[in-house]
Amino acid sequence: MNQLKENLTDELRKNGADLIRFGSATRFCDPNVQRLMPEVKTVIAIAFRQLRGSRRGIEEGSTFYQYTTTAVETLEEVIMPLALLRGCELLEKAGYEALPQRRNLLVMREQNETNPEVDYAEIYRGMEAEHQLDFEQCAVDAGLGERGLSGSILTDEFGPCIRWVFILTDAPFKEDPMIKPHLCDRCGACVRACPGHALSKDGTLNRWQCAVYYIGGNRSKNPFMPPDAFADDPERLSIISGETKLTPERAKEVLNEIHFYPPMKHAYQGSICGRACDTACYIHLEEKGVLTRKFATPFRKRLEWRLTIED
Ligand code: SF4
Ligand code: SF4
Repeated sequence: MNQLKENLTDELRKNGADLIRFGSATRFCDPNVQRLMPEVKTVIAIAFRQLRGSRRGIEEGSTFYQYTTTAVETLEEVIMPLALLRGCELLEKAGYEALPQRRNLLVMREQNETNPEVDYAEIYRGMEAEHQLDFEQCAVDAGLGERGLSGSILTDEFGPCIRWVFILTDAPFKEDPMIKPHLCDRCGACVRACPGHALSKDGTLNRWQCAVYYIGGNRSKNPFMPPDAFADDPERLSIISGETKLTPERAKEVLNEIHFYPPMKHAYQGSICGRACDTACYIHLEEKGVLTRKFATPFRKRLEWRLTIED
């Protein structure tokens, strides 16, 4: 089995994977692991870095498209599926079953929730029968990283800047250790960085609020918002300053008025915040010197830009 683990790791790395962790299925809390594949013995988590350069444009206020195209869409639609299929093929050639698992961004178990990365109107809600894995919990159980205050999975190498997939297999691999949480120090930088105050101090995420500010609801962080945006809305100022508190129904009304930036080819919402919560976390972890992947210069090179609300 050691040779197969080595071969699989090599194959996944050749196809762009950065972090690969093997966990015995018995240590996973998510009941969907067994539901999806009753004979599962190992869950393999495979993570891919989001290039640091994908965040450079939003950091500088110079180009915004690149975060969503290269750090979300291309990973999710090109790189990750290919690596997933190659890894599963290798396991099948060795005589084992391999069930590929990538996030279905359009499916939610909850009835009144949303996913900021896609159009809220496209989401299928209440899909219990879909049995999608809890990606964050399974990442922790696989030993990929720890859950930070923001809910993001933090890794020693890339901080929160990763995306990931899983392979469920009946191959009984030797497992990797789980991670003892050591990165998140509850600094609150993720909470403070959100342009829409979607994260509360205890890390609770209002996903509808996030959906609005992920795509640029805050004028001070969105150079594409025209001066007459929300002109007829009595709450205009509190919306474009990120101070409003949105119910799901109100968030839908606001989202219907945001057309400042085109969506991506696969219908991903074009992110204007560029996951500012994760960027702030990355900057914090880099400043603390705890990330193992080093760069010649720090990510944050100058004061953060901000427009005035009426710029
Ligand atoms: S920014 Fe600070 S509090 Fe937030 S997840 Fe990162 S380390 Fe934890
Ligand atoms: S920074 Fe962006 S992604 Fe993070 S919680 Fe706020 S709106 Fe959502």
